[in-house]
Amino acid sequence: MSDKKRIETICVQGGYTPKNGEPRQIPVYQSTTFKYDTSEYMGKLFDLEASGYFYTRLQNPTNDYVAAKLCELEGGTAAMLTSSGQAANFYSIFNIANCGDHVIAMTTIYGGTFNLFDVTMRKMGIEFTFVKPDITEEELDKLFRPNTKAVFGETIANPACVVLDIEFFAKVAHKHGVPLIIDNTFATPVNCRPIEWGADIVTHSTTKYIDGHGVSVGGAIIDGGKFDWNKYEDKYPGLTTPDDSYHGVVYTERFGLGGAFITKATAQLMRDFGSIQSPQHAFYINLGLESLHVRMKRHCENGLAVAKFLKNHPKVKCVTYCGLEGDAGYELGKKYLPNGSCGVLCFEVKGTRKDAETLMKNLKVAAIETHVADARTCCLHPASATHRQMNDEQLIACGITPTLIRYSCGIENAQDLIDDLSQALDKI
Ligand SMILES: *Cc1c(COP(=O)(O)O)cnc(C)c1O
Repeated sequence: MSDKKRIETICVQGGYTPKNGEPRQIPVYQSTTFKYDTSEYMGKLFDLEASGYFYTRLQNPTNDYVAAKLCELEGGTAAMLTSSGQAANFYSIFNIANCGDHVIAMTTIYGGTFNLFDVTMRKMGIEFTFVKPDITEEELDKLFRPNTKAVFGETIANPACVVLDIEFFAKVAHKHGVPLIIDNTFATPVNCRPIEWGADIVTHSTTKYIDGHGVSVGGAIIDGGKFDWNKYEDKYPGLTTPDDSYHGVVYTERFGLGGAFITKATAQLMRDFGSIQSPQHAFYINLGLESLHVRMKRHCENGLAVAKFLKNHPKVKCVTYCGLEGDAGYELGKKYLPNGSCGVLCFEVKGTRKDAETLMKNLKVAAIETHVADARTCCLHPASATHRQMNDEQLIACGITPTLIRYSCGIENAQDLIDDLSQALDKI
């Protein structure tokens, strides 16, 4: 029997193996602080010479059990939890890019991440170039500069549902000596493992499918351990030259390529910014992970059933779901998401903004929420909610049509979702 377990088994049992007489479920270490017998030993912890816990702002055993499970699921070498998906994406870039550096990111990324990059991190002196996911290699090549430090995209873009050609972006990023960072929130490691396709760093908003029950905000970063920081020594001095705040430790030397990125992010960014996940919430995230493989299957079945129904409905103009034959993302979906993508789809009703509002008003099973990727079906009409200040022309300019609806299939009965949509469409 091979030691390497399959995804379903890792979802349930990964990251924590109790010894004789120990708790079956992961214990919640509800403690800010850890006690040591001697100052000498504690000194070693502070110099990163010994491993151990001293303060929960940096690390906590409960968090580390859950991070270890996510690490195993994604096929990485090291991982950490963060307080939110926003913190995870911020750390993933800020760990290797400083003031004066440059990053290439997709235009299709989640609005919160776009804002973080384009407004807040720009203020910190990091420049971003946004590119369409269907950019050619020739066009992409031209955008790399000597100070480019990373390429960033989402496996399945939220909310446009565009599937990213991970292998292509990994190849081009590596040609220019920079890592590819992939936000794998919508696909989850159950449906896609970006590291297997060449990605170097994977991030998550665990708030979505991984929690899945709408109970805890969280994030995670997983390092694939394959990017050779030493080969581009001048480009990543934070990883390859001494860190004075830890008695001159060189992360790549002390922790190897597999451990350098996460150790630096923990030792510096977590220490200074403190966006730590609380151990209680890490426990909730683990409960979500235990059923992730079962839920994702149902999310995908419901997603496909609802997408097929909408595609054939006379009042629906178009549907975006990569599981649908003929969808723009169908071929990439077959390659990267052979077992299904997720439960989120987008569709446009025929008619005006008002018609979409009528549909929304009449839905009874699907709830109106800004949230997505939850056990309960939820939906959003950006033109009357998140983007309501914009007129039709402004909406179209940012890729959102006035009748676009984002619909996130939960794990209820598919026919109930279809019946609900059917009666609401009849009201238009
Ligand atoms: C929600 C989301 C985020 C942000 O995560 P939070 O946990 O809300 O901070 C980042 N990326 C994607 C793809 C998301 O859907």
